Amino acid sequence: PGDIAHPVAVGLEVAGDGPALPLTPGLPDELFDHDGQITKQAVRAMTLAALAPRAGERLWDIGTGSGSVAIEWLLAHPENQAVAVERDAERATRARRNADNLGVDWLEVIEGSALDVLNDQALSEQLPDAVFIGGGLSHPLLEALWQRLPAGARLVANAVTLESEALLAHWQQQAGGELLRLELSTAAPIGTRRGWKASYPIVQWRVTR
Ligand code: SAH
Repeated sequence: PGDIAHPVAVGLEVAGDGPALPLTPGLPDELFDHDGQITKQAVRAMTLAALAPRAGERLWDIGTGSGSVAIEWLLAHPENQAVAVERDAERATRARRNADNLGVDWLEVIEGSALDVLNDQALSEQLPDAVFIGGGLSHPLLEALWQRLPAGARLVANAVTLESEALLAHWQQQAGGELLRLELSTAAPIGTRRGWKASYPIVQWRVTR
Protein backbone atom coordinates (compact mmCIF):
# COMPACT_ATOMS: atom_id res chain seq x y z
CA PRO A 1 0.00 0.00 0.00
CA GLY A 2 2.90 2.38 0.70
CA ASP A 3 3.81 2.56 -3.00
CA ILE A 4 0.33 3.33 -4.25
CA ALA A 5 -0.62 6.95 -4.71
CA HIS A 6 -4.17 8.13 -4.22
CA PRO A 7 -4.86 10.87 -6.75
CA VAL A 8 -7.04 12.83 -4.34
CA ALA A 9 -4.80 12.46 -1.29
CA VAL A 10 -1.61 13.44 -3.10
CA GLY A 11 -3.14 15.85 -5.60
CA LEU A 12 -4.18 14.97 -9.12
CA GLU A 13 -1.11 16.65 -10.68
CA VAL A 14 1.49 14.70 -8.72
CA ALA A 15 -0.16 11.27 -8.91
CA GLY A 16 2.09 10.59 -11.92
CA ASP A 17 2.14 7.39 -13.97
CA GLY A 18 2.58 4.95 -11.08
CA PRO A 19 -0.11 2.74 -9.59
CA ALA A 20 -3.04 4.83 -8.41
CA LEU A 21 -5.94 3.87 -6.18
CA PRO A 22 -9.41 3.92 -7.71
CA LEU A 23 -11.53 6.93 -6.78
CA THR A 24 -14.59 4.93 -5.75
CA PRO A 25 -14.93 3.43 -2.24
CA GLY A 26 -14.70 -0.31 -1.88
CA LEU A 27 -10.91 -0.62 -2.17
CA PRO A 28 -9.50 -4.17 -2.01
CA ASP A 29 -9.24 -5.49 1.56
CA GLU A 30 -5.55 -6.25 0.95
CA LEU A 31 -4.74 -2.54 0.85
CA PHE A 32 -5.50 -2.38 4.58
CA ASP A 33 -3.40 -4.22 7.10
CA HIS A 34 -5.96 -6.09 9.23
CA ASP A 35 -6.47 -9.09 11.53
CA GLY A 36 -9.70 -10.31 9.95
CA GLN A 37 -11.84 -7.66 11.69
CA ILE A 38 -12.46 -5.52 8.65
CA THR A 39 -15.59 -4.37 6.87
CA LYS A 40 -15.13 -6.26 3.61
CA GLN A 41 -14.93 -4.54 0.26
CA ALA A 42 -18.54 -4.92 -0.94
CA VAL A 43 -20.09 -4.08 2.44
CA ARG A 44 -17.65 -1.18 2.81
CA ALA A 45 -18.73 0.22 -0.55
CA MET A 46 -22.39 0.07 0.55
CA THR A 47 -21.45 1.63 3.88
CA LEU A 48 -19.64 4.56 2.26
CA ALA A 49 -22.58 5.05 -0.11
CA ALA A 50 -24.87 5.30 2.93
CA LEU A 51 -22.49 7.64 4.77
CA ALA A 52 -22.43 9.79 1.61
CA PRO A 53 -19.40 12.02 2.27
CA ARG A 54 -19.51 15.56 0.90
CA ALA A 55 -16.49 17.82 0.62
CA GLY A 56 -15.23 19.07 3.97
CA GLU A 57 -17.42 16.87 6.13
CA ARG A 58 -16.46 15.13 9.38
CA LEU A 59 -17.00 11.47 10.28
CA TRP A 60 -16.90 9.62 13.57
CA ASP A 61 -15.94 5.99 12.89
CA ILE A 62 -16.78 4.02 16.02
CA GLY A 63 -15.03 0.66 16.37
CA THR A 64 -12.70 1.57 13.54
CA GLY A 65 -10.81 -1.77 13.43
CA SER A 66 -8.39 -1.41 10.53
CA GLY A 67 -9.64 2.12 9.92
CA SER A 68 -10.88 1.22 6.44
CA VAL A 69 -14.18 3.12 6.59
CA ALA A 70 -12.64 6.30 8.02
CA ILE A 71 -9.80 6.07 5.49
CA GLU A 72 -12.18 5.80 2.55
CA TRP A 73 -14.17 8.72 3.97
CA LEU A 74 -10.96 10.80 3.96
CA LEU A 75 -9.98 9.64 0.47
CA ALA A 76 -13.30 10.97 -0.84
CA HIS A 77 -12.05 14.56 -0.49
CA PRO A 78 -8.82 16.13 0.82
CA GLU A 79 -10.77 18.46 3.13
CA ASN A 80 -12.69 15.67 4.82
CA GLN A 81 -12.06 15.00 8.50
CA ALA A 82 -12.46 11.81 10.48
CA VAL A 83 -12.14 10.67 14.07
CA ALA A 84 -11.66 6.94 14.57
CA VAL A 85 -12.45 5.32 17.93
CA GLU A 86 -11.08 1.87 18.78
CA ARG A 87 -10.83 0.16 22.16
CA ASP A 88 -8.21 -2.41 21.11
CA ALA A 89 -4.73 -0.85 21.33
CA GLU A 90 -3.19 -3.01 18.59
CA ARG A 91 -6.00 -2.22 16.16
CA ALA A 92 -5.85 1.49 16.97
CA THR A 93 -2.14 1.44 16.08
CA ARG A 94 -2.89 -0.48 12.89
CA ALA A 95 -5.58 2.01 11.85
CA ARG A 96 -3.09 4.85 12.40
CA ARG A 97 -0.51 3.06 10.22
CA ASN A 98 -3.03 2.25 7.47
CA ALA A 99 -4.06 5.90 7.29
CA ASP A 100 -0.43 7.02 7.05
CA ASN A 101 0.33 4.43 4.34
CA LEU A 102 -2.68 5.39 2.24
CA GLY A 103 -1.93 9.09 2.27
CA VAL A 104 -4.53 10.33 4.75
CA ASP A 105 -2.33 10.93 7.79
CA TRP A 106 -4.71 13.52 9.22
CA LEU A 107 -7.00 10.75 10.48
CA GLU A 108 -7.46 11.24 14.23
CA VAL A 109 -7.36 7.92 16.09
CA ILE A 110 -8.61 7.80 19.68
CA GLU A 111 -7.95 4.64 21.66
CA GLY A 112 -10.75 3.89 24.10
CA SER A 113 -14.20 2.47 24.56
CA ALA A 114 -16.85 4.20 22.46
CA LEU A 115 -19.05 5.38 25.35
CA ASP A 116 -16.10 6.69 27.38
CA VAL A 117 -14.72 8.58 24.40
CA LEU A 118 -18.15 9.97 23.56
CA ASN A 119 -18.62 11.23 27.10
CA ASP A 120 -15.24 12.90 26.88
CA GLN A 121 -15.57 16.59 26.06
CA ALA A 122 -12.79 16.51 23.45
CA LEU A 123 -14.87 14.54 20.97
CA SER A 124 -18.05 16.54 21.45
CA GLU A 125 -16.41 19.87 20.68
CA GLN A 126 -16.62 19.29 16.92
CA LEU A 127 -19.78 17.43 16.05
CA PRO A 128 -19.80 15.15 13.00
CA ASP A 129 -21.82 15.25 9.80
CA ALA A 130 -21.95 11.46 9.81
CA VAL A 131 -21.32 8.60 12.22
CA PHE A 132 -20.53 4.99 11.43
CA ILE A 133 -20.86 2.29 14.07
CA GLY A 134 -18.87 -0.75 12.99
CA GLY A 135 -18.30 -2.03 16.53
CA GLY A 136 -19.42 -1.36 20.08
CA LEU A 137 -23.09 -1.10 19.13
CA SER A 138 -25.31 -0.90 22.23
CA HIS A 139 -28.45 0.82 23.43
CA PRO A 140 -26.53 3.27 25.67
CA LEU A 141 -24.22 4.12 22.76
CA LEU A 142 -27.14 4.84 20.43
CA GLU A 143 -28.84 6.94 23.13
CA ALA A 144 -25.69 8.95 23.76
CA LEU A 145 -25.19 9.55 20.03
CA TRP A 146 -28.84 10.40 19.42
CA GLN A 147 -28.66 13.06 22.15
CA ARG A 148 -25.53 14.68 20.79
CA LEU A 149 -25.97 14.50 17.02
CA PRO A 150 -27.06 17.70 15.30
CA ALA A 151 -30.18 17.65 13.11
CA GLY A 152 -29.30 16.43 9.63
CA ALA A 153 -26.43 14.18 10.74
CA ARG A 154 -26.36 10.74 9.08
CA LEU A 155 -25.98 7.65 11.21
CA VAL A 156 -25.09 4.26 9.73
CA ALA A 157 -24.76 1.14 11.88
CA ASN A 158 -23.84 -2.37 10.77
CA ALA A 159 -24.92 -5.38 12.84
CA VAL A 160 -23.79 -8.96 12.43
CA THR A 161 -25.15 -10.61 15.60
CA LEU A 162 -28.81 -11.38 16.35
CA GLU A 163 -28.57 -9.19 19.43
CA SER A 164 -27.31 -6.13 17.63
CA GLU A 165 -29.75 -6.79 14.77
CA ALA A 166 -32.62 -6.76 17.29
CA LEU A 167 -31.32 -3.48 18.68
CA LEU A 168 -31.33 -1.91 15.21
CA ALA A 169 -34.82 -3.27 14.48
CA HIS A 170 -36.04 -1.58 17.68
CA TRP A 171 -34.34 1.71 16.91
CA GLN A 172 -35.59 1.82 13.33
CA GLN A 173 -39.15 1.41 14.62
CA GLN A 174 -38.67 4.32 17.02
CA ALA A 175 -36.47 6.67 15.01
CA GLY A 176 -37.16 5.78 11.37
CA GLY A 177 -34.60 5.40 8.63
CA GLU A 178 -34.03 2.25 6.58
CA LEU A 179 -32.93 -1.26 7.37
CA LEU A 180 -30.99 -3.08 4.69
CA ARG A 181 -29.89 -6.70 4.87
CA LEU A 182 -26.78 -7.61 2.92
CA GLU A 183 -26.34 -11.29 2.21
CA LEU A 184 -23.27 -11.88 0.11
CA SER A 185 -21.69 -15.07 -1.16
CA THR A 186 -18.57 -15.73 -3.17
CA ALA A 187 -17.91 -18.74 -5.38
CA ALA A 188 -15.48 -21.15 -3.71
CA PRO A 189 -14.26 -24.67 -4.43
CA ILE A 190 -16.31 -27.68 -3.27
CA GLY A 191 -13.93 -30.47 -4.09
CA THR A 192 -13.37 -30.23 -7.84
CA ARG A 193 -16.44 -28.04 -8.39
CA ARG A 194 -17.66 -24.74 -6.97
CA GLY A 195 -20.38 -23.49 -4.67
CA TRP A 196 -21.55 -20.28 -3.02
CA LYS A 197 -19.78 -19.61 0.27
CA ALA A 198 -22.01 -17.32 2.30
CA SER A 199 -20.80 -14.55 4.59
CA TYR A 200 -22.75 -13.72 7.74
CA PRO A 201 -25.70 -11.51 6.82
CA ILE A 202 -25.17 -7.87 7.76
CA VAL A 203 -28.05 -5.65 8.82
CA GLN A 204 -27.44 -2.00 8.12
CA TRP A 205 -29.45 0.84 9.63
CA ARG A 206 -29.26 4.22 7.90
CA VAL A 207 -30.99 7.16 9.47
CA THR A 208 -30.83 10.94 9.43
CA ARG A 209 -31.09 12.63 12.83
N1 SAH B 1 -15.08 -1.14 10.19
C1 SAH B 1 -13.90 -1.85 10.67
C2 SAH B 1 -14.23 -3.19 11.29
C3 SAH B 1 -14.88 -3.09 12.60
S1 SAH B 1 -14.83 -4.57 13.55
C4 SAH B 1 -12.92 -2.09 9.54
O1 SAH B 1 -13.31 -1.97 8.38
O2 SAH B 1 -11.78 -2.43 9.81
C5 SAH B 1 -15.40 -3.93 15.08
C6 SAH B 1 -14.34 -3.17 15.86
O3 SAH B 1 -14.99 -2.52 16.94
C7 SAH B 1 -13.27 -4.06 16.48
O4 SAH B 1 -12.00 -3.60 16.12
C8 SAH B 1 -13.50 -3.91 17.99
O5 SAH B 1 -12.29 -3.92 18.73
C9 SAH B 1 -14.16 -2.56 18.07
N2 SAH B 1 -15.01 -2.35 19.25
C10 SAH B 1 -15.91 -3.22 19.77
N3 SAH B 1 -16.53 -2.66 20.82
C11 SAH B 1 -16.02 -1.41 20.96
C12 SAH B 1 -16.27 -0.33 21.87
N4 SAH B 1 -17.18 -0.43 22.84
N5 SAH B 1 -15.58 0.80 21.72
C13 SAH B 1 -14.66 0.93 20.73
N6 SAH B 1 -14.38 -0.05 19.84
C14 SAH B 1 -15.05 -1.20 19.96
